[in-house]
Amino acid sequence: MNILTFDIEEWYHFDIFSTEDKWDSYESRIDLYLPRVLDRLDEKDFKATFFCLGWIARKYPKIIKQIAKRGHEIGCHTDKHLFVKEMTPESFNEDLQMALNSLESLIGEKVISFRAPAFTITADVTWAFEVLAENGILNDSSIFPMTRSFGGFPSYVEAKPSIILYNDVIIKEFPMNTGKILGQNFVFSGGGYFRLFPYKTIKKLMNKSDYNITYLHMRDFDFKQQRLRHLSMMRYFKSYYGIKGTFSKYEKLMNDFKWVSVEEAVGLIDWGKVRKVIL
Ligand SMILES: [Zn+2]
Repeated sequence: MNILTFDIEEWYHFDIFSTEDKWDSYESRIDLYLPRVLDRLDEKDFKATFFCLGWIARKYPKIIKQIAKRGHEIGCHTDKHLFVKEMTPESFNEDLQMALNSLESLIGEKVISFRAPAFTITADVTWAFEVLAENGILNDSSIFPMTRSFGGFPSYVEAKPSIILYNDVIIKEFPMNTGKILGQNFVFSGGGYFRLFPYKTIKKLMNKSDYNITYLHMRDFDFKQQRLRHLSMMRYFKSYYGIKGTFSKYEKLMNDFKWVSVEEAVGLIDWGKVRKVIL
């Protein structure tokens, strides 16, 4: 099973130093690659899940409507791309409700899938699952089962669909999948990792795994985007490496594999047989 997901945010939302008061002064680039991405999906008749910011729904309602109209699942990626691990249960609840209201009022449907910015549901903030469930979220894709810059949940050993049990809460979890490169486990199917690894390697690892899930952003395709010079050298490299080749890699992914959305994947999995993870 290959699950195709995108995080719908602007090119600057990943930057921890970019605060909301500056966002209106930046150039909007969200819609440059999206039409092409959606066209490829239509050609192949694949559906994907788009985890969208509530802020984007208010600022560019046509974009969210367009994605929904073409039959894709609209998921939630918080309201303003704040890190869950830096919020309290109260502030996360407030942010989530704002995002869900904005998204749901546009598409006229309940949003049931969620992904945290930068995979920031870590082992320290498992209360987030309770907040998600209270707001009607049934499916989560926030677990990155390895260490990473801002988030990651390395103690979550299952890199496959699983059921999270937290107090009385039950959530279907779609963690990022991993593959072995030179004996080391890596996530390879999204963001900087997708840009970094050669397509040959990605294809080989995907063929070996019975569960793959991507996480792509429009900025992963956009080689003309403004470069943020204040990033550390490492972060700069991770943020911009390989952008030029990403769209052709995406096209190869579309040609070489069959893809489903999170919503479709839920219906394909025998949930009685997956691992239950008690948090
Ligand atoms: Zn994001």
